[in-house]
Amino acid sequence: MTENLVFSDAHTHTNPVRGLGAAKIAERFKKEGGWFMALVSLSPWSYALEFNGFKSYENVIEILLRECKSAEEAGIKVACFSGFHPADIDTLIDRYKMDPIEVLNLGLKVIDYVADLCKNEVLDGIGEVGRQHYKTSAERVIISELILRRALEYVKDYGCKVHLHLENEGPITIELVLKEIETLEVNGTSKFAEKLLFHHFKPSLVKEAYQRGFSSTLPGLPRVLEYAFKELEPKYMIESDHIDDPARPGSVIYPWEMIRGEKMLLRRGVVSEDYLYKVNVDNVVKFYGVKEP
Ligand SMILES: [Zn+2]
Ligand SMILES: [Zn+2]
Repeated sequence: MTENLVFSDAHTHTNPVRGLGAAKIAERFKKEGGWFMALVSLSPWSYALEFNGFKSYENVIEILLRECKSAEEAGIKVACFSGFHPADIDTLIDRYKMDPIEVLNLGLKVIDYVADLCKNEVLDGIGEVGRQHYKTSAERVIISELILRRALEYVKDYGCKVHLHLENEGPITIELVLKEIETLEVNGTSKFAEKLLFHHFKPSLVKEAYQRGFSSTLPGLPRVLEYAFKELEPKYMIESDHIDDPARPGSVIYPWEMIRGEKMLLRRGVVSEDYLYKVNVDNVVKFYGVKEP
């Protein structure tokens, strides 16, 4: 195996309050050959923050920015994203007894704020935003959808990148986003294709996404990667979606373990170095606009 092989994590989380935090994660990731991580913030209560409306989301962003700095200090290139996770809508209504319309207004305000930071190059983009991947009420899906549309407007206005968390169902998942983009009246979808990332997609949807010119990420579990390396063109990125929660250790996969899995598949001849370079470097450089390692 050559020394030049480097690996990226195109969507992950770190939790310095409850979990390992970025410094430790980045160090282990780097040791295994990692070079780049896209860090996405968690929900306020994940960091044990007392919920205090919009202020909590400002605190979330402060934590994220510190985590990005820690990862950079450990020698990892980073991209930093903050948003309003669709599951927050359910939590805010169920646990915090917020009125659905208040939740909608809070979500829109958070997206406006994140977009402003993205415009000023403090953050790299908005994420996660999108729709619930589990069954919830129609009203809550509509709230998600309205917040997602606000984020899409900022793709158009400011060129913000967006990590979309969607239901991962079938081609209609992409179809609806395409229709929404059309309603924003931008000539062609290419401007959006450069900025949107469909995160945590299953292989069949990854294929659907790249055939339509969009970026997507695949969860880096060995069995998923083995299938993808055999069946898909190297036109996507790989993510750990690691939530850094000691209550769910290694969920979805530890970033350094994800790298070990890729190396194992390389040794077994399932994937070539060239293919790994495309998904871990070329596609990351192109989507995130970072310099090659
Ligand atoms: Zn997600
Ligand atoms: Zn995630």
